[in-house]
Amino acid sequence: MSQLPCIALLATGGTIAGAAASAAQTSGYAIGGVDARALLNAVPQVAEVARVLPEQLLNIDSKDMTPAHWLQIAARVRQLLAQPDVDGVVITHGTDTLEETATALDLLLPVGKPVVMACAMRPSTALSADGPMNLYDAVRCAASTDAAGRGVMLCFGERILPALGLRKLDAHRLAAFDTTAADLGTTRPAIRFFAPAPARQFDTLQLPEALGKLPRVDLVYCAAGTPPDLIQAAMAAGAQGIVAVLPGNGSVPDAWIDALAAAVAKGLVVVRASRCGQGAVFDAGVDARIGCLPAGLLSPGAVRAAVMLALEVARSDEDFVPESFLRSIG
Ligand code: ASP
Repeated sequence: MSQLPCIALLATGGTIAGAAASAAQTSGYAIGGVDARALLNAVPQVAEVARVLPEQLLNIDSKDMTPAHWLQIAARVRQLLAQPDVDGVVITHGTDTLEETATALDLLLPVGKPVVMACAMRPSTALSADGPMNLYDAVRCAASTDAAGRGVMLCFGERILPALGLRKLDAHRLAAFDTTAADLGTTRPAIRFFAPAPARQFDTLQLPEALGKLPRVDLVYCAAGTPPDLIQAAMAAGAQGIVAVLPGNGSVPDAWIDALAAAVAKGLVVVRASRCGQGAVFDAGVDARIGCLPAGLLSPGAVRAAVMLALEVARSDEDFVPESFLRSIG
């Protein structure tokens, strides 16, 4: 019997599983050419640090991920974490919407055994593909005794980043990810966390297993002079929440104030996020005026995921206040 930790590897597709015709190609490749077993076979060194159980859950480009997929992944990870013989879970995923899935999983999964995501900017067939090292590091991280109790993490480019605050900031470069929070640790020269696991400020959200849909929440992007009509359009389309993607640190144009306040008055959850890509949006006087919330550390897409989940919980739990929960995740 192996004494090594047992790590479940859940593959969902993405560039890390992509295959191109030429090693010089870093775009225009087919997603999903490489399955979970082949991903693992590309990193035989993993066998020295963990016993890995590969499983193909999905095989898609993460641009096609939906809230139903977040729930499906969360349900499977929850099952795996409940198995006494599983010490941690690694999830491979595309980079494009990773911050949204990571946020949803962080809010839905119990905090305990490590859950680590891995991805790549270059397909598996590329010169200097980054997937194998990122996967190797993710398994090492999940197998580390220090990794427990930290929520969902991403191992990418030798960094260990928390789910909440993740941002994909570059469409092409290898160093595509950053965080609005702080790095949790590094993978080189060894897996090392910079601080002990902090106490969580919020309770894991509880949702029924079989749920396939979440309430609609729309992003409304504000460029200079954009009329607020899209806020009304979102409401007419059935949105129960609106994330306003605003200039700078979430500055609301005067012309948008009444439209956002009207959405709040109709019972929608309204969040102020930043279109800057990097930088948190904190409480400001305008929040009280509109009745909205700041996105905190979260990117517009990530905070949308959080609002959708919080609204769903509120549907069946009358004591649950989405706004309080959203403030608690920072
Ligand atoms: N389109 C790909 C995806 O998100 C990009 C990647 O994985 O880097 O699945």
